[in-house]
Amino acid sequence: MHADLFQCLIAGPCSAESREQLFQTAEGFKNLPLNYFRAGIWKPRSQPGAFEGIGNEGLLWLQEVREKYGFKICTEVATAEHVKAAVEHRLDMVWIGARSTVNPFTIQELAEALQSTGIPVMVKNPINPDLNLWLGAIERLERHFINVIGVIHRGFSVYQKTKYRNNPHWQIAIDFKEARPDLPLLMDPSHIGGRSALIGPLTQQAIDLDYNGVMIESHFNPKEALTDAKQQISPRDLVELLERLKPRSNNDKLQSLLKDLRKKLSLVDHSLFDLLVERMELSLQIGLLKRTHNSTILQVERWEETKRIMMQRAALSGLSQEFIEQYIKMLHEESLRIQLEVIKENHAH
Ligand code: PEP
Ligand code: MN
Repeated sequence: MHADLFQCLIAGPCSAESREQLFQTAEGFKNLPLNYFRAGIWKPRSQPGAFEGIGNEGLLWLQEVREKYGFKICTEVATAEHVKAAVEHRLDMVWIGARSTVNPFTIQELAEALQSTGIPVMVKNPINPDLNLWLGAIERLERHFINVIGVIHRGFSVYQKTKYRNNPHWQIAIDFKEARPDLPLLMDPSHIGGRSALIGPLTQQAIDLDYNGVMIESHFNPKEALTDAKQQISPRDLVELLERLKPRSNNDKLQSLLKDLRKKLSLVDHSLFDLLVERMELSLQIGLLKRTHNSTILQVERWEETKRIMMQRAALSGLSQEFIEQYIKMLHEESLRIQLEVIKENHAH
């Protein structure tokens, strides 16, 4: 792996399961420029009765891993008690999980517990796609004088099954970076992807999108993992995956090429905007006609037909079906809004 691909490489199993499991996994990382070895000690599970983490004993194993391999160690904390145990075991970093970031009471409790411990903290995005909640959690920590060293983008919960376990909503990460360019932003391809085959492409994407690092789940025997078995990869696969990454450089030639392309992109954006205005003017005219003829606003067959044709085009063009569907729904909604306004005006007269 190119040593400077990432400023921060974090890897390790989803959960600490046994001393051997941690050691066998760490052994596989011994030639990697690892910044932190991770392992969950207390696991937030959707259903009770599943493996809920090994507890404090695992912290001792982590300390042993640090001693033998020289890796810094980190785990997830969700309560003041976890923080206390992590500090007592001199962990080098703790992270706050997605299910905690979502809850201001939890963040408040953690902020108070972390204050004046000096321990670095990474904050994962909340499970729901809410940028302000994420920013707010960080602000809450900062008000307790905690030097938040980083944030981790791990994607957002979805109900419908998609390619990803958690929807990345890339725009939220980009907006985050814009709001807080001072904080290192890492990606967690394991929890975004949810399956091992996606870890490679997502990690490459982390480089392409200029993330400052990645947190990747790795287990010496993923099939037997007690948590997140589908998304963990073996240390050997991790090493190979990191070898295959392509660095991106930010040189002058690239900058000038980008500038040209961006200029073209802006022109297209402006044309799209003008077309949208034109389209909505047509909608308005249709609304006026419907009003004169007392027709219904929503004409379902027409809408179904438009949608069908656009989806067909999407399939042929290579644009994503999801994107086009959302796009035409939004267009349609805006048209309906305009036409309903016209009708309202009529009633008002
Ligand atoms: C984890 O890192 O194992 C974990 C539980 O993450 P998240 O909070 O992103 O679900
Ligand atoms: Mn996990």
